[in-house]
Amino acid sequence: MADDNREGGLEAPTRHAIEWKTTSFYDQDDLNTELERVFDICHGCRRCVSLCNAFPTLFDLVDESSTMEVDGVDKADFHKVVDQCYLCDLCYMTKCPYVPPHEWNVDFPHLMLRGKAVHYKKKGASLRDSVLTSTDAVGKLASIPVVAEVVNTTNKLRPARKLMQSAIGVHAEAPLPKFHSATLRKRNAKRTVVTTFDERIGLFVTCYGNRNAPAMVEDLIAVFEHNGVGVEIVSNEQCCGMPKMELGDLDAVEKLKEANIPRLLDLTAQGLRITAPIPSCVLMYRQELPLLFPDDEQVGAVGRAFTDPFEFLMARHREGRLKTEFKTPLGKVAYHAPCHQRVQNIGLKTRDMLELVPNTEVEVVERCSGHDGTYAVKAENYDFAQKICRPVVKRIADAKVDYYVSDCPMAGDMIEHGMGDASVASSAFTLLRQAYGI
Ligand code: SF4
Ligand code: SF4
Repeated sequence: MADDNREGGLEAPTRHAIEWKTTSFYDQDDLNTELERVFDICHGCRRCVSLCNAFPTLFDLVDESSTMEVDGVDKADFHKVVDQCYLCDLCYMTKCPYVPPHEWNVDFPHLMLRGKAVHYKKKGASLRDSVLTSTDAVGKLASIPVVAEVVNTTNKLRPARKLMQSAIGVHAEAPLPKFHSATLRKRNAKRTVVTTFDERIGLFVTCYGNRNAPAMVEDLIAVFEHNGVGVEIVSNEQCCGMPKMELGDLDAVEKLKEANIPRLLDLTAQGLRITAPIPSCVLMYRQELPLLFPDDEQVGAVGRAFTDPFEFLMARHREGRLKTEFKTPLGKVAYHAPCHQRVQNIGLKTRDMLELVPNTEVEVVERCSGHDGTYAVKAENYDFAQKICRPVVKRIADAKVDYYVSDCPMAGDMIEHGMGDASVASSAFTLLRQAYGI
């Protein structure tokens, strides 16, 4: 018989559904009891101290309490820990020996999610946090032609950024995304998928891909189509819901889910897989929505259809269906694997594909960049985020590479900001398009 108090588990980790529709989920006393139980386990373990600022915040609270145990921490301070978690999932997926099916049943990120949801239900969100997580509304406004120019120019002006910091708490130094009025959807409005491709895939463009990085998405499309995969852009999609989930606004996540799932089902009904250029959005469909809506068959079907773009391309490579005639070597490339890609447990498929290019050496950096959606741009978190990103920046700077890329363009921006030189983060789609010469 298994010893359930053993150090670590032997079975594969499982994840329980998030029971956010039950009344006890939102019960503050019930939540505090669970927070105290898990915090006590973490206090005795401390493996995750270097992952993010949530754990140092917890351990400082414990060490500075009268008892130097979790029972000495004021429960009102528990939220300080919750607030520092950006749901990257790394502690659960890469460190914790006590995840289910272990009897201790520690799912730190989903407990933090519950803490955020309870806090949001009681107190709502600040104007800044509402704006930062309303990617569709902000993006629509900021990509109106004249507005986009004004936003992009204002974001570079120091006095304006200082004003923004004091008015709404967006740090004056934090890298903010550029908005494009010629969005990916506008650029591709008249696009039809050529029927001669041997396979088709659905593309969830994502808010960021549409309005902040349309050229990167075009590079993705070019690489897929060069390899015989026709790309069907999902019609009228809305945000995947990850930013609202990070805020704890689960009702908003449900509304976005209801808007997107029928459109995605149109594609799965045709037997298509679906991909997205941002790992967080793929993770949202693959893992988080099925755990939030475990009885929703349609969510399950869409989740099973989602795939990482390089996972998909490397599967074709295994079947001998990927083109490997490259015209331009890439030299030395640093590849940053972002947290939301790593926790999909698919291996380093982006690295594998870049390494198919002759005379290309890839240095892998598997550490959090600290960007994590909206975390790094908040005035109170900026310094923590920079600290988290520093080892990534150092590795890349020391490696003296020709290019550096991250699967997450926001992580790329964060690294570029940390580099502080004239270098620019690229994308693996862009480099592969260049290597193919297409
Ligand atoms: S999910 Fe990520 S940010 Fe949250 S506690 Fe775990 S490692 Fe830290
Ligand atoms: S989440 Fe798990 S590994 Fe990390 S400190 Fe807590 S108990 Fe230890």
